Amino acid sequence: MIDFELTDDHKTVADLARDVARKYLKPHIQELDRTGEFDAGFIARLKEADLLGVCISPKYGGMGMDYISLGLVCEEMEYIDTSARVVFSVHIGLNSMTLYTWGSEFQKEKYLIPQAKGEKIATFGLTEPAAGSDAVGILTTAQKRGDRYILNGEKMWISLADVADNFLIFAWTDFDKKAKRDHNGISAFIVERGFPGVTTGTIKGKLGVRAGNTGWISMQDVEVPAENLVGFEGEGFKIAMACLDGGRYTVAAGSTGLIRACMDACKSYASTRQTFEQTIDHHQLVKEMFADMVYGCDAGRLLWMKAGWLRNIGRRATRETSMAKWFCTDQAEKAAYNAVQIHGAYGFSDEYPVERFFRNAKGASIYEGTREIHKLMQADYLLGFRTDREVRCMLPSYQPNE
Ligand SMILES: Cc1cc2nc3c(=O)[nH]c(=O)nc-3n(C[C@H](O)[C@H](O)[C@H](O)COP(=O)(O)OP(=O)(O)OC[C@H]3O[C@@H](n4cnc5c(N)ncnc54)[C@H](O)[C@@H]3O)c2cc1C
Repeated sequence: MIDFELTDDHKTVADLARDVARKYLKPHIQELDRTGEFDAGFIARLKEADLLGVCISPKYGGMGMDYISLGLVCEEMEYIDTSARVVFSVHIGLNSMTLYTWGSEFQKEKYLIPQAKGEKIATFGLTEPAAGSDAVGILTTAQKRGDRYILNGEKMWISLADVADNFLIFAWTDFDKKAKRDHNGISAFIVERGFPGVTTGTIKGKLGVRAGNTGWISMQDVEVPAENLVGFEGEGFKIAMACLDGGRYTVAAGSTGLIRACMDACKSYASTRQTFEQTIDHHQLVKEMFADMVYGCDAGRLLWMKAGWLRNIGRRATRETSMAKWFCTDQAEKAAYNAVQIHGAYGFSDEYPVERFFRNAKGASIYEGTREIHKLMQADYLLGFRTDREVRCMLPSYQPNE
């Protein structure tokens, strides 16, 4: 049976996320965006509200809500600012959900529990200076020496690089396979900020997500205990793709929040701004822009909710998640572009939030698979060049009574 109704729990968690974001982020966001500052205090508020482990089982320190709840939280966060949703994308979508799926009991105890409680913040390091879409092009290496791996390499464009305590890092462990570009030579590791040889920095001058931290991670002869290998040696590429399923889901859900923010800002502006003796919301061409926004928001929400529902019942949702991420981020870009248009010259200034939405929306068609990569994926599914097979470890389905 298909049920489109949100449960009371969904409404409660969405209200909680909305309250936290409105109370603690909204009043400062314009200034944080202008100065390019990341607000660590906001993370403390998210921890206080228990939101940093929203969909992780209480057994591992989380709130034990379902995956739709994670989507709703992301929607409310991005309604205020993309930087707040990015915290959920990397901390939960790309990292904690991965440990929840692929981590050993030791890793869940040591890393997942503090992450789900919000005591430690985590992120995901796949991209490198010379490799983004082409993940097999990474150069980072992990050489086994006794009971440790020695990691060397550089990661670039990493969200929360200068903030996170724990990093999920992808590196080549099989150098013959690296030479042949065989992705079965890549492995995944948990790296702590405190491991000697790890240094990080922040990238300045970004177009958008300026209130978010984005940076680089450098690893020089970093000794990582073998027990921090996630999954088996050689499973790293599969793990990275599974991580991206989780991250893309949060990006899709957040994007409908950004569209809602555009709609609300535009409704308020267009109902008071007058031209030709009527408020501009009465002009047909302006209405068309509103219509496009609500179309993107409603259709997008159905797509990410379907992907969330598949997660809830323990089914793989790579195709559906890619579709949701592509559609929702495309529509958010269009909505933000039109939101600036509806505001006329005022949309071109930071007196109104829509120019921030416009800059923030751009990033989401680049990270977690560019628009082009999602188009290729969808064409390949359609043409039968690609199918989703069961993987060794599946994200745990939602267990309401856990
Ligand atoms: C704000 C922000 C936050 C990020 N956070 C993280 C993070 O936390 N962790 C992380 O690992 N990475 C992160 N990234 C990196 C992001 O995932 C990459 O930027 C993305 O994968 C694209 O890689 P690239 O920038 O190297 O572009 P490239 O892969 O070099 O692509 C350049 C252009 O070529 C196109 N292209 C590439 N290959 C093809 C093809 N086969 N067919 C058609 N077109 C193609 C692309 O679509 C794009 O338009 C972040 C990026 C940004 C901007």
